[in-house]
Amino acid sequence: MEKELVFGHQNPDTDAIGTAIAYSYLQNKLGYDTEAVALGEPNDETAFALKKFGFEEAPRVIKTAANEVNKVMLVDHNEPQQSVSDIDKVTVTHVVDHHRIMNFNTSTPLFYLAEPVGCTSTIMYGLYKHFKVEIPENIAGIMLSAIISDTLLLKSPTTTERDKKAVQELAEIANVDYQKYGLEELKAGTNIASKSEEELIDLDAKSFDLNGKNVRVAQINVVDLPEALERKETFLKTMKDSAKSEGYDLFMLLITNVLDSDSTALVIGSDEALTSFEKAFGEVKDSEISLPGVVSRKKQVVPPLTEAFK
Ligand code: MN
Ligand code: MN
Repeated sequence: MEKELVFGHQNPDTDAIGTAIAYSYLQNKLGYDTEAVALGEPNDETAFALKKFGFEEAPRVIKTAANEVNKVMLVDHNEPQQSVSDIDKVTVTHVVDHHRIMNFNTSTPLFYLAEPVGCTSTIMYGLYKHFKVEIPENIAGIMLSAIISDTLLLKSPTTTERDKKAVQELAEIANVDYQKYGLEELKAGTNIASKSEEELIDLDAKSFDLNGKNVRVAQINVVDLPEALERKETFLKTMKDSAKSEGYDLFMLLITNVLDSDSTALVIGSDEALTSFEKAFGEVKDSEISLPGVVSRKKQVVPPLTEAFK
């Protein structure tokens, strides 16, 4: 069988990398020839999870796909601008995702499974059950890590009963106490002191086309908001430089305290884009706005922004 690559979105998070690994393993069991790859290096949290569950190497990083395969499988994304740079040159045969579907078109039929749950690994867990494939301990561990990451240890409003059930069963297979491990995992991704503002605004950033406006939404996890905000001026300057060079109409940096699930956002952009932003979230003062309880980009940020940019 012709080899296919399996990958998640650019600036990969633990779901993008972990679910790609899990899906590739499942598909190989089902007779496909696949390799899990990534569109970037693992972040600190993902690296912690990979190490914890005995993955010695992270998935190989690719810049383009068409130079090595004709067919690919996508997990944890579908929007082309979040995918591999030459996505238009390959055939997408499978998608497993939990995001909005936008600008996604194919010329041939495909397997597409999208469900509104907290994490792609929760859907993957269901697929393993469906195909009656046993989940190995290390794969269970990385899927568990993905769900903990996406749901902030089951506290994000994106969390469903199915995520909770998957976490319990995967933790059992992976042989960990998920509360204890989950906190360790989330904390592993909060070390911002060692990173530059350039790195931090790109670590977990996604672009969205909102009614023709190019909107960038980045998120960083911290355990100490005031400490992060000490770097506000440098963050703002870096965001402005990035917006200028990349052509963003709006750049929002969501700084989330993973311990209490609150966020503060830094926002820059054109007057027109900022007006739309304020329609969604209220007044921005000195490029800053407090967003208590907001932790989910896909559920609490992108939908109100989409509405406001109409
Ligand atoms: Mn993701
Ligand atoms: Mn996800």
